[in-house]
Amino acid sequence: MHFDLYTLGVIGAAIGIAISMSFTLLGLVLRGLPALRIWASAFWVVTAAAFAQGLDENGSLLSTVAGGGLIALANALMLMGIAIHLHYPLRWRWPLAVVGLFAANQLHAYLVPPSQTVSALMFGAYSVVWDVWMVWVLLWRAPRDMRNTCSFTALIFIVDAVFYLLRSVVVLFPQTFAHTPLDELLTTWNYLFGILSSFLLSTGFTLMLAERLTLDLRRLARTDGLTGLLNRSALIEAGTRLVDACRARGQACSVLMFDLDHFKSINDSWGHAAGDAVLGHFVGVIRGVGLVRDALFARYGGEEFVLVLPAVEPVQVGALAERMRAAVAAKPAVFDGRTINITTSIGGAAATDANFERLVSAADVALYRAKHLGRDQVAWSPGVERPG
Ligand code: GH3
Ligand code: MG
Ligand code: MG
Repeated sequence: MHFDLYTLGVIGAAIGIAISMSFTLLGLVLRGLPALRIWASAFWVVTAAAFAQGLDENGSLLSTVAGGGLIALANALMLMGIAIHLHYPLRWRWPLAVVGLFAANQLHAYLVPPSQTVSALMFGAYSVVWDVWMVWVLLWRAPRDMRNTCSFTALIFIVDAVFYLLRSVVVLFPQTFAHTPLDELLTTWNYLFGILSSFLLSTGFTLMLAERLTLDLRRLARTDGLTGLLNRSALIEAGTRLVDACRARGQACSVLMFDLDHFKSINDSWGHAAGDAVLGHFVGVIRGVGLVRDALFARYGGEEFVLVLPAVEPVQVGALAERMRAAVAAKPAVFDGRTINITTSIGGAAATDANFERLVSAADVALYRAKHLGRDQVAWSPGVERPG
């Protein structure tokens, strides 16, 4: 198959403009995604570089310095977009320094043209540096739940790097490779490969964005906005799974239900904002006492919280509940420079053979008893195993 360079240039420019436009439009719809804006600019810059290189012959100022510099800039933008997307703290100055180095190198190549071999090797080396940098961030700095799409995008950069490494080998040993099928493949498909990899990259970035949005939405749907804890529906889902797993292993599972005492009067005397701050403070105090691994801590309702403790001896849970109650009473919340004393009542239930729903309702009954007995205390459900 043979394409003349002009045809390939026109196809490449059309696809470059289409990808850049679709990313720009996507950015207008999906707001608040800085990585998307950066990737859209990167695709415009790649397209501009292709124009600069296509409009002028090899070795000219426009093609060598502007075209080469723009390609380096596009790589820097893609890398920074990836870093921002993955919350990896990469500073702009490092990729921009590499762009500056490359541009200076290209200027030097324009003023003192090197041999075609050296020029091809230099360009290949820079491409591999960018590819390896991006693969490293994508594979080693991606959070676990984003590995799939990051691996797909990394694969495109790996193929790109392999392509340039093969080209470098062919350029370095012309007597061995000249006119071999590998040489012809790399030369003929050079431009087509660039177009294809741009297209695949745009797919990779789109998949990464879709995955991030889905994860964010799922997280939001499971999280209580004020405290950052699991919300009620997420607790029921995760709690049911956890208690069932405990029961299958024959281990005890405990549920503690907390309700702040006289919380309404805190709102009434200090204001709703103070009430909100007290809720956040309460969560901090409970966390400070220490939660076992795999524990679920959730906001069950307004000022009611649930803690599910799997595989902990009921005796230990009894002591833990008492420590939590005492810690809440001992650490008043501070709002607007004023201290607000708070206490909590706790209802507890533990069992090896109950399901989540039963444990929670038993803890709820116990909580009611703790309130009835005068608040600021821990009460245990008589229906299920009693700790201690
Ligand atoms: P008790 O000791 O019997 O539990 O008394 P209480 O005042 O704590 O109980 P009650 O159920 O009467 O009051 C709960 C209050 O919690 C009522 C509601 O306005 C308030 N509340 C619920 N959610 C929030 C919230 O997100 N922020 C604030 N500030 N208040 C909330
Ligand atoms: Mg209350
Ligand atoms: Mg309540």
